[in-house]
Amino acid sequence: MKTALSQLAAVRPRNLAHALTLLHESLGDERLVPLAGGTDLFVYLHAGTLPAKRFLDLAPLKELRGVRVGKAGLSIGAMTTFDAIARHRACAAWPMLPQAARVVGAAQIQNRATIGGNVANASPAGDSLPVLLAYDATVRVASVRGERTIPFAELYSGYRRLALEPDELITGFDLPPRPDGAHERFRKVGTRAAQSISKVVFAGVVHAWRGGVDLARLAWGSVAPTPVRARAAEHALLGRAASPDVARDAVTALARDLSPIDDIRSDAGYRASVANALLAQFLASAHPSFRNR
Ligand SMILES: Cc1cc2nc3c(=O)[nH]c(=O)nc-3n(C[C@H](O)[C@H](O)[C@H](O)COP(=O)(O)OP(=O)(O)OC[C@H]3O[C@@H](n4cnc5c(N)ncnc54)[C@H](O)[C@@H]3O)c2cc1C
Repeated sequence: MKTALSQLAAVRPRNLAHALTLLHESLGDERLVPLAGGTDLFVYLHAGTLPAKRFLDLAPLKELRGVRVGKAGLSIGAMTTFDAIARHRACAAWPMLPQAARVVGAAQIQNRATIGGNVANASPAGDSLPVLLAYDATVRVASVRGERTIPFAELYSGYRRLALEPDELITGFDLPPRPDGAHERFRKVGTRAAQSISKVVFAGVVHAWRGGVDLARLAWGSVAPTPVRARAAEHALLGRAASPDVARDAVTALARDLSPIDDIRSDAGYRASVANALLAQFLASAHPSFRNR
């Protein structure tokens, strides 16, 4: 049943420390649900699948917004919207970020939806998740006990389950620099170009030189209960010189990494064959020696 709007309350914290205290104190009673852009939460409220009535409005938290670049790489606040990511000059140096940001819903969604909300919503189809995985991001989280970091690859412990305590907030993401000459590509395959949820989403970074492949991060969404790194396919590439045989080995190994399912958006067989094609295309674009002559 839909929740009547008149029954909902949003608490507005003064700053991050205040927000963390309010969240912690709410655990003994009715836990406050963090509210970022609301583009997922309002859908759940409308559908009547979210029983919560009290929300912690993260909008006042300036500490959680913005993009900074430094020697250690790129830092993005959890409350940064996809529109801000798509427009920010510093993000252009991590091109899969603006590429993914521009295909999250349409302009109206991108204006409100935050990267922190996308990650915390924990849908395996979330478009920014494979990008953060392929960039080997670290997640910053905070609670009244202080701050800690979680490697993005360890954030999801199962289908829509986050390795977060109930009183922790995601505050941001740190992306380390990549080696010069690394090749990267983001691909989203959905029913159409805009306003469609991914059937398969891919983000890859590979560095191949004459001596062989020395970096391979192949990240996938919508093909397993959580976003996944394709470790078997990566293993088939690492340390080997680029060749059509090596590309074929990686595509064959990919079947061991992914566990696609049939659902309302697609079926497992289609997802697997799209994933194979995306990997083959990615490798062919990364180095000419991966291509069949
Ligand atoms: C029409 C439409 C189209 C969409 N298209 C796409 C699409 O193409 N691709 C895609 O990936 N998504 C899509 N979405 C889903 C949604 O827009 C994104 O997941 C968005 O990034 C969610 O961010 P938000 O700020 O709106 O989160 P909210 O809805 O505010 O929150 C989402 C969840 O995250 C939690 N949360 C938020 N911030 C934090 C934080 N800092 N710390 C801890 N928990 C937090 C909330 O409690 C909630 O559980 C679409 C949604 C709609 C309505």
